This record gives sequence, C-alpha cells and structure tokens, in this order.
Amino acid sequence: MAKKQFKSESKRLLDLMINSIYTHKEIFLRELISNASDAIDKLCYISLTDDKVGLSRDDFEINIVADKESRTLTIRDNGVGMTAAELESNLGVIARSGSLQFKKDMDAKSGDSSDGGDGGEAGDLDIIGQFGVGFYSAFMVAEKVTVSSRAYGEEKASIWISSGSDGYTIASHDFEHEGAGTEIIINLKQNTEDESYDKYLEEHTLHSLIKKYSDYVRWPIVMDVTKSRQVESDETDDDGNKKKTWEDYTESEVINSRVPIWQRAKSDVTDEECAEFYKEKFHDHTDPVAILRVSAEGLVSYNAMLFIPGVAPYDYFTREFKAGLQLYSSGIMIMEHCSDLLPEHFRFVRGVVDSQDFSLNISREMLQHDRQLKVIKTNIEKRVKAELKKLMENDIEKYETFYKAFGIQLKYGIANGYGMNKDMLSDLIMFYSSKAEKLIPIAEYVKNMPEEQKYIYYASGESITLLDKLPQAEQVRDKGYEIFYLTDEIDEFVIRMLGKFEEKDFRSVIDGDLELESEEDKKEIEKQETENKDVLDFVRDSLDGKVAAVRLSAKLKSHPVSLAAQGEISLEMERYFKSMQGQQGNDMFGNMRAERVLELNAGHPSFGALKEAFENDKDKAAKYAQLLYGQALLTAGVPLEDPSGFSELVSTLLFG
Ligand code: ADP
Repeated sequence: MAKKQFKSESKRLLDLMINSIYTHKEIFLRELISNASDAIDKLCYISLTDDKVGLSRDDFEINIVADKESRTLTIRDNGVGMTAAELESNLGVIARSGSLQFKKDMDAKSGDSSDGGDGGEAGDLDIIGQFGVGFYSAFMVAEKVTVSSRAYGEEKASIWISSGSDGYTIASHDFEHEGAGTEIIINLKQNTEDESYDKYLEEHTLHSLIKKYSDYVRWPIVMDVTKSRQVESDETDDDGNKKKTWEDYTESEVINSRVPIWQRAKSDVTDEECAEFYKEKFHDHTDPVAILRVSAEGLVSYNAMLFIPGVAPYDYFTREFKAGLQLYSSGIMIMEHCSDLLPEHFRFVRGVVDSQDFSLNISREMLQHDRQLKVIKTNIEKRVKAELKKLMENDIEKYETFYKAFGIQLKYGIANGYGMNKDMLSDLIMFYSSKAEKLIPIAEYVKNMPEEQKYIYYASGESITLLDKLPQAEQVRDKGYEIFYLTDEIDEFVIRMLGKFEEKDFRSVIDGDLELESEEDKKEIEKQETENKDVLDFVRDSLDGKVAAVRLSAKLKSHPVSLAAQGEISLEMERYFKSMQGQQGNDMFGNMRAERVLELNAGHPSFGALKEAFENDKDKAAKYAQLLYGQALLTAGVPLEDPSGFSELVSTLLFG
C-alpha cells in the first residue's frame, strides 16, 4: 500500500516526538485519554437529541489494556470515532489549535541556539512538558501507532498505521468492536540503557499516571486490575480442614475519580493543578495570570472555573477566534463556546461553567434568551472585573503582562457601545506616562497631579519617541506635569468616550488650550496677535486653504512652530480615518480631515525673519510660510503633502 507523507509541519513535530529525550514522556497517556474523552463528549452530546446512538450516559467508557507479550498498550473509547477522511485530516496534519504557536516557539528557540538550530532540544522539550502536543506525543514511546476507528453513523471502519516520519497508511478495516469508537494501539519502543518503555505495561505505572493526569476526566477510565483473594485449596491441614491460599485474579476497575476539577472543593485543588488543567484544555503553554473559582447558589446555582490568560491566542484578533465559556450541565458539556456567558469586553476569559439548572437538550436559540444565562453573565463580569482590579493593585507586573495581551480589548470595550461600559472598564485602562516612562493606570496619574494642575494632559501620535519631542509637550513637562502618550489608534476615542476621570477633564496637549499661561501671558499673546494680524493673515492666505487659522502660541518654548487642530476631528483621528480608508478601500472616511491650525512662536528668531520678509520681500515671506508649515507637519508626524517640493524649498532658502 502506498505510504502517504505527513505535511511538513507535522513531520517536524513528529520527528521531535520520535527523537525526544524528554523525561516526562509519560504525558502521552494524558493526551490520548484526553482525546478519547473529547470524542465521548461529542457522541454523548449527539445522543441527547439522536436516539440512534443507542447508548446511555453510563455506557460510555475509556479502556486501557496493556499486553506484556506483544508489548502493546491499547487505549480504546466508544466516542464519536473518525471516518477515513477524518483520520487523514486529523492525524496527517497538526490539528491542535495551539500548534502554530508551538511551532513558532520552536522556530524562535532553534533560531537562537548556537548549535546550528537542530531543533533547539532543551527549549522544545520544555514546551512539550508544559503544553503537550496531542496525538503525536504517542510517538515519544511508540515505534508504531495503529489507529482503528469507526465514525458515528458509519458502517465501515478504517485503520491508520504509522511507524513515524516516513509516512502513514490508511485502509478500510474490519473493526472488531461494535458501534462508533476509536482504538489506538501503541507498539512500545525497545528498551534502551537509559529508558525502560516496559514500564508503560506495568499496572501500577498506568494506575498512577491515570491518577496523576486524568483523574478528573469525567468518563470512566477502565483497566484490568490484579487482585488477590483467599481460596480453599485441595490440601488439608492436620485437623482435616481445607488449607486456604492466596490467588491472583483480575477485575475491571474504574481508576479515575471522575469529579471534574471545577466541581472539587477549592481546598482540594491547588493553583498548579488548575493551571495545568487550563493549559491542557485550552491549548495554552503559559500559565494564566489569574484563576477564578465561583460557586454560586441562589437564583441560579452553578460552579465556574475561569482563567484570565497571559497571552492572546494566535488567532485572537481574527474572525477565527471563538470566544465563550464551555457550558456544562451536571458534568456534561452542552456547549463548547457559549458566548452569551461573557460580555464582549471580557471575551479573552476562558473557562468552564457548570450548572444543573440547564436542561441537557437546551437548544442554542433558547440559550440566547435564557434569563439564567444573563444572571451568570452579570455575575461573571463583576467577578472578572474585581479580579483584574485586584491584580492591578497587588501584582502590577502580572497585570502588565495581561494588559499587553488584552489592553486593546478593554479599550475597544470603552470606545464601542457609546461608552455604555465605561464605568466597568475605565479603571482598568493604563496609558504610557511621560514621567514614569511606562504604562500607569489613570487613577495613578490623577493621584500624582499637583494641586494646581487642572487637567489630565495627553498627546496622541505614532510613537513615544515622536510624542516626547513634540513642541507643545515641552511647556507641560516643564511645569512638572505628566503627559499620557497615546499611541494606539483607538486611544483618542477612548479619551473622548471617557470625557473625565475622577472629575478631571482630559486635555490634548496638541489641540487644546492648556491653560498654563498666566492671565498676563494671555493678554500679551492677544496683544501680539492684534499687532501682527496682517502677518498672520498673510501666512494663512499663502498656505492657500491648508490651514484654517494661524495663531501665536505661548505653548512653544524652544520650537518655532507646531501644528494643532480645531473642531471635532483631531490630527490623530484624521490619521485613523485615513488608515480605515486605506483598509476598506472606500472614500467614506476620506473627507474626515482635521481643521489644521498653524501655531507660531513669536519669541523665536524665525518669527522675526518672517516679519522682516513680510515687510520687504513678500515672495520670500510666502516661502517662509511654506517652510514653517512643512516643519509643523514634520514635528507632528504628519506626512508632507509634497516632500520633494519641500526639499526644493529648503534648498532655495538656504543656498539661493
Ligand atoms: P487536538 O486534540 O488538540 O485537536 P490531536 O493531535 O490530539 O489534537 O488530535 C487531532 C484531532 O484528531 C482531534 O481534534 C480529533 O478531532 C481527532 N481525534 C484524536 N483522537 C481521537 C479519538 N480518540 N476519537 C475521535 N477523534 C479523535
């Protein structure tokens, strides 16, 4: 039979498994049992609405059989099974959602290893341990893996065989077991000097591995267990009584205690165990930043185990990502991604909600309208908020980790829905502080404000570096005030939506009246503006509609000019709309242009030169106006409309 080849990504993972020197190879069993359990979950779910399954809840089980003679270990389930096509697509390529990330990590690690990058063994192995890699982990202990399976609803069964990276075969098969299900036979590797694979045939090893890793699996994991009993022998003792001897016999036994981890008492489960459960179930390889356990009684009774991840899944910001919590009813999963349990702004939360108040065959549509769901959702929202707040206050480093991954989600939560959620979210937001040179909560900014400071100052632009050099920022910083530097496109919308924080208004350093000048300074500027009205008008006119106004500004200390905006649309918003226009290829946002204001520094030599030219050489004065406008654009990080024209202008002015 022709061998089929693994896809290259899968082959790489497979090679890693086969050649693994990882010391915790034992996790392969956990992975296979977890797959078996998932498969049973699926068939059990089908059976709720489909009588043809013909199995009741109590009929489902996972069997483990060790055969010392043939050195095989068999893991069998009566779950949903796989068709030939599914065997091909599930086992021929990496299916695991986390695998892409896994591979990226592997590549990154092997990239910086100095041994020529032959897999970066140590780093890779670390990942296997933390993360597990599904079905392929069988190859850490197997020299051959045989998967026989019959999919639910099919008569025919198929068999998939592989001895490793040289490929696999698939054929139709006479599956000896009835109904749907999957059987995985592992032919163990030969023992080596360092490693005994025989141990995976030992009852006590298997027993303790199942206890260690799969105890909470809901379905019975059944194994033959050796027991002893006393029996009467044929011999008689001196008194004529039959002698008793011990005899070994085997009996099928359920090994796992089957209590889902989220249903166990808080005091019985360590944080490490919860984190392990999270990583395994949600395919993450980093610990969550927070674990929440809820057990509620009342209007609705439920248990929940929730996790706040520390990294965003690779598809988090794509349409592919399915948010939502897993919904269980008395231990049976009835929905894998129940998005009605989470508000959109907390869609990064993962976890399980289990309530016996939900009927098993509840339909998706009914769920959407369920009042009980709403109660749970509101409660979960409050709990998550409180947990994040606590993290922010008690462990800012962890919060930063979280915020790097999901801060943007919180910001969207404020910007969307017309500010409906701002009370829930505003105190979770952090911005970059010019003073602290890192992200800080808005409350911290307010706390740091000197008594006389009226506003929360912010500046938005492309980068921290650019904002730090902004002409208008100098004056604010000189006062000893902090400035929030906003670099996410959404930030300005967040600020607009918030309006205030703890009664303090936000004020843009770029566009706003900073109200830092004394009354006298203001009068002085007004006086100068009146005196220089004709120059300012001239500059505006020679810029030919590019700016709505030209003003003198007291904000500028050492800089000659700056660019600001007046009206509803700021420069930053204009930039945002432009990028939207680019992305969506339509013109809807094209007209969203900020009304520009050119601000001149009357105390700067450039202004003197402009005035002189205005009086003696109008042509030159017009050139100065263009030059100053160009400079203003550059410092504001706004692209020049005509870069080569500007360059020519500079040359003409400098070199004649
Ligand atoms: P993951 O379980 O993370 O998706 P695996 O590589 O372990 O990744 O498995 C790949 C896919 O193969 C699974 O998603 C599932 O569809 C299928 N599969 C694996 N084991 C079984 C099984 N025992 N019964 C049915 N399907 C299975």
